Amino acid sequence: MIYDPNNIFAKIILGEIPCHKIYEDEHTLAFMDVMPQVDGHCLVVPKVGSRNLLDSDLAVLAHVIATTQKVAQAAMKAFGADGVQLRQYNEQAAGQTVFHLHFHILPLKEGDILQPHTGKMADHGVLAEHANEILKYI
Ligand code: AMP
Repeated sequence: MIYDPNNIFAKIILGEIPCHKIYEDEHTLAFMDVMPQVDGHCLVVPKVGSRNLLDSDLAVLAHVIATTQKVAQAAMKAFGADGVQLRQYNEQAAGQTVFHLHFHILPLKEGDILQPHTGKMADHGVLAEHANEILKYI
């Protein structure tokens, strides 16, 4: 399995496609998922391309996990969540649809029901508001 740099997250990292950005540093970027499974659903990606967890460099993974922790803490506070679920899919058979490593962050309140994976596109105004809410706690 090889990394194809012509994927949508690589284009977001290069600034060729817009995103609702939450956090950026030298190694990672975090932004809102456009088809959220719950309010506050966001994604963390490394800037260096790897297809998924299976071919990722350990140093890159360490940066991604550090950013995932930071954004997960902020998303929980922003949405008054009781917990946070992380999801990460590897290869099509396991549900991966974008082939650039990413972690899903899903802040959850007791009893929340998740919308389907890659379901409905959210309103961009709402996504921008949600990104701003999370930004307050980064
Ligand atoms: P997966 O590869 O299955 O882990 O999921 C890819 C995720 O990326 C899905 O949850 C999509 O809703 C999300 N997604 C796809 N295109 C974009 C985009 N342009 N901006 C933000 N999220 C996206």
